[in-house]
Amino acid sequence: MQIADLPIAPALAACYAEKGIRALYPPQADCVEKGLFEGNNLLIAIPTASGKTLVAEMAMHHHIGRGGKCLYIVPLRALANEKYDDFSGKGVRVGIATGDFDRRDDYLGRNDIIVATSEKVDSLLRNKTNWLSEVSLLVLDEVHLIDSPDRGATLEMVITKLRHKNPAMQIIALSATIGNPESLAGWLDAELIESEWRPVDLREGVYYHGCIHFPDNDRPVERRTKHEDLDLCLDTISENGQCLVFVSSRKNAEAFAKRAAAGLKLESPVLTGYAESIRSKADTDTEKTLAACVAHGAAFHHAGLKKEERRIVEQGFREGAIKVISSTPTLAAGLNLPARRVIIRDYLRFNSGEGMVPIPVREYRQMAGRAGRPHLDPYGESVLIAKGEEMIDELFDCYIEAPAEDVRSQCANEAVICSHILSLIATGFAREHDELTAFMEKTFYAASSESPAILKRAVHRVLEFLRESEMILEVGEWIEPTEYGSLVSRLYLNPWSAERIATTLPRVDGYSDIGLLQLLCTTPDMPTLYVRKNDAYYLDKFIAEHGEELWTEIPWHADEGFERSLKTALLLNDWANELGEEMICERYGVGPGDVYAMVESVNWLIHASRQLAGMFAPELAKSIEEMELRMKHGIRPELLPIVRLRGIGRVRARRLFNNGFTSLDAIRSAGPEKLGRILGQGIAAQIFEQLEGKRDAIGEEPADQQSTLFHFG
Ligand code: ADP
Repeated sequence: MQIADLPIAPALAACYAEKGIRALYPPQADCVEKGLFEGNNLLIAIPTASGKTLVAEMAMHHHIGRGGKCLYIVPLRALANEKYDDFSGKGVRVGIATGDFDRRDDYLGRNDIIVATSEKVDSLLRNKTNWLSEVSLLVLDEVHLIDSPDRGATLEMVITKLRHKNPAMQIIALSATIGNPESLAGWLDAELIESEWRPVDLREGVYYHGCIHFPDNDRPVERRTKHEDLDLCLDTISENGQCLVFVSSRKNAEAFAKRAAAGLKLESPVLTGYAESIRSKADTDTEKTLAACVAHGAAFHHAGLKKEERRIVEQGFREGAIKVISSTPTLAAGLNLPARRVIIRDYLRFNSGEGMVPIPVREYRQMAGRAGRPHLDPYGESVLIAKGEEMIDELFDCYIEAPAEDVRSQCANEAVICSHILSLIATGFAREHDELTAFMEKTFYAASSESPAILKRAVHRVLEFLRESEMILEVGEWIEPTEYGSLVSRLYLNPWSAERIATTLPRVDGYSDIGLLQLLCTTPDMPTLYVRKNDAYYLDKFIAEHGEELWTEIPWHADEGFERSLKTALLLNDWANELGEEMICERYGVGPGDVYAMVESVNWLIHASRQLAGMFAPELAKSIEEMELRMKHGIRPELLPIVRLRGIGRVRARRLFNNGFTSLDAIRSAGPEKLGRILGQGIAAQIFEQLEGKRDAIGEEPADQQSTLFHFG
């Protein structure tokens, strides 16, 4: 089927032709035949890289041409950026929404395509954003993640709410291969497109003792080093291919990249250039190690790295200069970096409470699916490494020949649905018990489960909690949100977190930074750090010296939850007291990317607790507000007036303050020249433009929070 024959705008067809895309892949043609352009709902369950995004994009342009609006929901922020870039520059207006959760973002409605995470769409629904009712096409990327324990229920509820709101809307759901596609398609009233077709041939095998065993042949691998995993890489690289190596932890990823760099010993001006740009901004040992590896053609890639470093690694790999990337499996979902050979070295992963467990088949497929670059590699190879001969067959059975798991709803878990039920009530989706039941009956859970009573009981218990905590009022069949309940829903807080904060604040005997932070770190909305053996010393010391500043009770016996909350709070407190990034990373055993993620999460909670304090403990509201700003910039209180300037972050602000520039007035009266001696003339000139009102207003927030945290100053 030719693209030129499809009902899409000639400009889009021309964009595709420029990239050499003229004919549809077979599963794409199947989508057209099953009613892609006739408004039919479709569930497209085909392997990674077989052209799902392109199908969705054609449908979106078709809708836009008829005055429609498209919402494209992605599971990860990183993917939102990738899709935003993909869809931009093709003659339609594209918007992206991943940020703050208590805004309506009406301006987004001016776009034809809005790319957003499911959490963001949920918050837009809670804040009654008008343009959502204009959405004529909903695209669900990676819809199988409905079964993710922590985030799947949000996606499921968002789909259910949007369908309830816009019953005529077309849905295109994109999925990896799953065990029960019929069930998901049935729920979505969708035609099912299922296929194993791939643009590049994929050969899946198991390596053991110098040989890769494929289903139909064996391939010997030359032993060049003491390490079999490295031999597998060198084997592909000697044939001009590249490798992705999936390992179980960040530490392993770093260790492997070091070994690969030592084994490869590549050198080129391009690699030196990449290494230099990483080294020039490196603050921590991890980053310096990355630069050293990249200089020799290897890299590691994980969530502990800064965005910019990850971008450099990805670019170096795409351009072919970097030959090997070792990465953690969680990145397989977001990392669109195909390679000739994918090595799945570690297929066991640590799960808290369960120890080491095998990764699911679907995750294996996602990693294996990264093998083979279309148009560049003659084939792709994915290789599992067996630790003993008897494991060869086992790995074939458990992964290569195993069926993918079924997708299961997470909606019967009351901890997860509590927040969603409150939002249904607060936004008027359900104001009576019957309406609530009717709504829950439209979920995937109800459509696919054989035991509806479980869902009923979970809803019943959630209502009991919401009633007791006074977030809702029940009068007969009627359910009303209270002012408190409406606020919690708008703030996008887990009601359990809200209740913990709201009941603690009024009992506090005087404000303390660590008291607030540790309280927030005990809520289910805050991810906390692992506690290592050698953390015990400083945690105990802190409790002995400052225990009375804490707002929650100190347990008598060792309590992992408490220790984790305290460790995380201490990290955040160090950040707000200007401890250097490198020191923080070393003290707490984390990467700079983790610090950023934690600061971002807690900032949201501080913001929410300021609003709750307004209702329950007004005397604390001002101190909490100050902490919100301090945490955002990572500064002590005395720097607050100076960071209002654009381009001034924690490091530059501190330099200014220590040189006597303690306020905007002090900067103004010193003049640009004096300031230039400290910060450089370029920045000094920019600052004076702001002070004189020529540039962006002072006090406006920088567009990119990460810049505030790490790049300025
Ligand atoms: P998926 O969403 O399934 O992972 P994409 O839609 O991102 O896959 O497609 C993977 C790659 O294949 C992209 O680079 C895309 O431009 C290209 N591609 C998609 N459809 C075609 C086609 N019909 N012919 C040639 N290349 C295609």
